[in-house]
Amino acid sequence: ELCVGCGICVKKCPFEALDIIQLPEELDAPIHRYGPNSFVLYGLPQPVAGKVTGVLGPNGIGKSTAVKILSGQVKPNLGIFEREVTWDEILKFYSGTELLSYLQQVAKKTIRASIKPQYIDFIPKVFKGTVGELLRSNDERKMLDYYAKELTLDTILDKDLATLSGGELQRVALTVALSKEADFYFLDEVTPFLDIYQRMIAAKLIRELADEHPVILVEHDIAILDMVAETVHIAYGKPAAFGIITRPKGVRIGVNQYLEGFVAEENVRIRDYPVVFETRGHESDVEREILMQIPEMTKSFPGFTLKVAGGEVRRGEVLGIVGANGIGKSTFAKLLAGVEIPDGGKRFDTVTVSYKPQYVTAATSDTVEFLLRQATKRFDSSYYQHEILEPLGLMPLLQSEAKNLSGGELQRVAIALCLSRDADLYILDEPSAHLDVEQRLVTTKVIKRAAEDKGAGIMVIDHDMYTIDMISERLLVFDGAPGANGLATGPFEMKDGMNKFLGLLGITFRRDKTGRPRINKPDSYLDREQKAAGEYYYYN
Ligand code: ADP
Ligand code: ADP
Ligand code: MG
Repeated sequence: ELCVGCGICVKKCPFEALDIIQLPEELDAPIHRYGPNSFVLYGLPQPVAGKVTGVLGPNGIGKSTAVKILSGQVKPNLGIFEREVTWDEILKFYSGTELLSYLQQVAKKTIRASIKPQYIDFIPKVFKGTVGELLRSNDERKMLDYYAKELTLDTILDKDLATLSGGELQRVALTVALSKEADFYFLDEVTPFLDIYQRMIAAKLIRELADEHPVILVEHDIAILDMVAETVHIAYGKPAAFGIITRPKGVRIGVNQYLEGFVAEENVRIRDYPVVFETRGHESDVEREILMQIPEMTKSFPGFTLKVAGGEVRRGEVLGIVGANGIGKSTFAKLLAGVEIPDGGKRFDTVTVSYKPQYVTAATSDTVEFLLRQATKRFDSSYYQHEILEPLGLMPLLQSEAKNLSGGELQRVAIALCLSRDADLYILDEPSAHLDVEQRLVTTKVIKRAAEDKGAGIMVIDHDMYTIDMISERLLVFDGAPGANGLATGPFEMKDGMNKFLGLLGITFRRDKTGRPRINKPDSYLDREQKAAGEYYYYN
């Protein structure tokens, strides 16, 4: 007999695992269930005129399902299969709620939705042609010139879609979604592969759109979500089994509840540990042995020059690497890995490097287990099981063929592969891309522990400031002009590094009562005060 709570489990209800003290009222009835034993969704996010509404929750929790309902692609069945559920019943279910008038329009089929999907790799496969052709054919709001300028797409309009980098494709996909004429906009992750400056621009454009039409934004870069959304719905449950979307909460409170791991109004614990941020910028561990000296070096390509100031890497530490796109971070990684040779120098080969590239693809039909076994002799050890496979959630994927994995799954496999190889130095380029918040937290821990256990150096390039904050012991900062020149400086202590990096960008973070960093509105009182004091990040 199936459990009445989730309709999936037989005996032990997965709700129990969540330690629900009191079931939220709306759990009396689901909004939609795909089949008697399939995924079931409770609650819907609420599009609100003039606002960006955030959705904060893991992948596989029903966000796309909710959008399909809100955009009229899926008629909800209230979990009933014996007969066709009428719109009258559905509207009755929502009577007295704020969603009623919205759903009345859905029932009348008068809703037009514009959607930016989470995974965008398919775009060059479906649309053949140039960036300009794709953007012009979708420019229903006549905003293309403005968007192209803001997102610096001007220079790539003549490029073939098939040749774009991930960061370029992300900005193109966002522009397409924002350019369409629609009643509501659903954006499923906009930040992967964008640097922090581009994330801020994307946030600004989304806010501007929201003045005209409601926007629902799923975003795992919480600092950006926090800045752009007014309210958030937390989505929790058990991915692939059931999802519960809470009522909207003010964004600060919602994000804090999410990080705390306790959703107060619903009285639900969603994680058994809180996420806490350091307010002072921890000091690095000077007791660590020196692993290597980064040589002073230069690398030139036609039109681009990278200078590396040098510095040392310590055993067991994670070095964060921050800097704009196109400023030479990947080139730096390739120099250390001996893939590129510095100008007038010789190949750098004093340490062995294991490298996870920024863009991960897999064409192979080898299984995940096969690939991991090739990378490590310790696959069968309990260490590997407990420190790598389980935390990264790879157990259920072991028999999957690499080419069939989703972006988030592939990312976790790529991180595991990188950490599985024997090396002195590990370099991971944007490990947060396509991971949800929970997976980012866990990945941070896995990477930090790997550095300690191996006595290796680990460098992590990332643009999610919370990830950088949590993972790094010290910081390497890239300065310069993207696409023209780059200068790698550091490693710095966290506080100095953050001040230097954010100072270059002109972005300051304040702290809320819980100590969580929040991006200041440009030119707000705090923004000006902190800039004057030279306090960009660790400040309270
Ligand atoms: P999210 O957008 O939060 O990642 P989705 O709404 O896409 O989640 O999916 C939630 C769950 O519903 C997943 O386990 C997915 O496999 C399942 N699902 C999605 N569409 C269907 C469908 N048409 N039939 C059965 N199950 C589905
Ligand atoms: P980041 O990783 O910081 O985004 P990259 O190191 O990938 O930056 O690139 C820095 C600059 O160097 C870019 O302008 C890029 O076009 C250029 N570049 C990178 N690799 C090559 C190469 N093999 N040949 C020519 N130019 C290159
Ligand atoms: Mg790069």
